[in-house]
Amino acid sequence: MTVPFVDLQLQYASLKAEILTAVEGVMESAQFVLGKTVAEFEGRFAAAHRTRFCVGVGSGTEALHILLWAMEIGNGDEVVTVPQTFIATAEAISLTGARPVFVDIDPETYTMDPERLEQAITPRTKAILPVHLYGQPAAMDVILDVAIRNGVPVIEDACQAHLAQFDGRFVGEFGLGAAFSFYPGKNLGAYGEAGAVLTNDEHLHNRMLMLRDHGQTEKYKHKVPGLNYRLDALQAAILTVKLQHLKSWTDKRRAHAAMYRSLLEGVGDIVLPAENIMATHVYHLFVIQSGHRDALRAHMQTAGIATGLHYPVPLHLQEAYAFLGYAPGDFPVSEQVAAHGLSLPMFAELRADQIEHVCDTIRSFFD
Ligand SMILES: *Cc1c(COP(=O)(O)O)cnc(C)c1O
Repeated sequence: MTVPFVDLQLQYASLKAEILTAVEGVMESAQFVLGKTVAEFEGRFAAAHRTRFCVGVGSGTEALHILLWAMEIGNGDEVVTVPQTFIATAEAISLTGARPVFVDIDPETYTMDPERLEQAITPRTKAILPVHLYGQPAAMDVILDVAIRNGVPVIEDACQAHLAQFDGRFVGEFGLGAAFSFYPGKNLGAYGEAGAVLTNDEHLHNRMLMLRDHGQTEKYKHKVPGLNYRLDALQAAILTVKLQHLKSWTDKRRAHAAMYRSLLEGVGDIVLPAENIMATHVYHLFVIQSGHRDALRAHMQTAGIATGLHYPVPLHLQEAYAFLGYAPGDFPVSEQVAAHGLSLPMFAELRADQIEHVCDTIRSFFD
């Protein structure tokens, strides 16, 4: 038996008729960029997270950037985030001219450690950007407390956390804005690149609408220099179809996580991912830790099981961010998870016998 890390072909096979009908609709309308198909998806995606506004853009990276840009964050400013994330979180900050300032993650939940947040805030801090890593919302209660006390807005990197909840509210409702990615492998994936920002702030919404379309307020009236960050209609049509299945896919991911948990409890030196009691984790990734990570990974590869590393080098140790002046040991929890974390196969269509095979193989490694 082989177990892929994700299987996008299997998902397509189950949706083929619906997807092709939606694609054909866009082809026949010949409206390929923005327009009513994009607006319809934006409305549905905002409603799914109980927010007022959604701005569809070309990727999760663009979503993060346009949000910071619309907030007028730039040169001389600082944005506090975590080093254990995909690099796009920090790139979006750098691209505005601002400086990423890191705080370590919590050893249990792998999200921003709110206890360390306050000491990272300076008079230059213009935003706090927690990442809902692997699909688990960061500790938004404590983070918002610290943010309010310091008068700094919070924005969310929700690129891995579609429909995740914290204290009964959806991600996207907590911050001034939240960035989502629809990269194909994400919980809600396009058939190409796509992303979106959710916000309840009308002013910010209007600024993002303008910036994503060359700073236009009406055709050929450019109020500010913007860019082309538009979402295309084919992706929006596909996402509208897939959004209808997202709740059931999310329930399946959570059920797979529960099965992994029960079969891996107490096996070898495996550390299972902890759930914050206030959070509803959507398991974009199921990441375990082992002190024998690389040997375990090779053993699983031999047994036909694909695994992933998210992420093996934390951002403060990347060459791209050497200029920030951080050193090994600065963020020990991030370094620990980078060295020991192993992402197991996780996608809605994963079968019980495949999960059993993964867990049997892990057990056989420790035997
Ligand atoms: C995927 C991802 C992004 C970037 O999204 P793209 O659509 O690939 O540009 C940003 N942050 C996190 C945490 C991600 O997982």
